[in-house]
Amino acid sequence: MINFKRVLAIGAHPDDVEFSCLGYLMKLKENGSKITVYVASNGSAGDPTSSVDRIDESRNALHCIGAELVYRNQSGICITDYEKISVELRALILRTKPDLILIHSQFDTHQEHKYLRDIVMTASRRVPCSIFSYKSVSVTVGYQENLYININKYIDKKIEYVRMHKSQRGHVYMSEESIRLFHVSWFAKMRTNDYIESFYAEQIIG
Ligand SMILES: [Zn+2]
Repeated sequence: MINFKRVLAIGAHPDDVEFSCLGYLMKLKENGSKITVYVASNGSAGDPTSSVDRIDESRNALHCIGAELVYRNQSGICITDYEKISVELRALILRTKPDLILIHSQFDTHQEHKYLRDIVMTASRRVPCSIFSYKSVSVTVGYQENLYININKYIDKKIEYVRMHKSQRGHVYMSEESIRLFHVSWFAKMRTNDYIESFYAEQIIG
């Protein structure tokens, strides 16, 4: 178990952090970590479900880890938002002093995930903290992972809370079966982990 005291989990949209990291965050919370979640939009640009209601869905889903939720109530992220989000994130990093940041992967193909990852990697470049990037439903087959977190104990609760994103239930990846499959890895299974969340450790600072 890799434990951290102050964790900042960052996602472009409501449900990104929950879908990819909620099991690990539950585990960290149980071990006493203080968790802050930053959501950079209320949904993708052009998505008719984008609205402040999606922020409420995140609030409900994150209730199980008692996280502070910081969000931008705007649809989508575009290149012109770069400086504004960067300033916000630098202030948030200074205030919360994370020893771990969780962020989208370099193998992610969603344009808004990519924008946000770039901003975070730049905003945190001189911060003495570990950075793990997380798997999402939009990574390429080349997605690289080197860190497996056993979430056997948390998978049922995770599914229950992820599905609090009611506006997103129409997506195939939001079915219970798909969520379970997302957390299965043959490599991890051979090491007794039925369900895992996987990450790529960009840097580990102890
Ligand atoms: Zn997203």
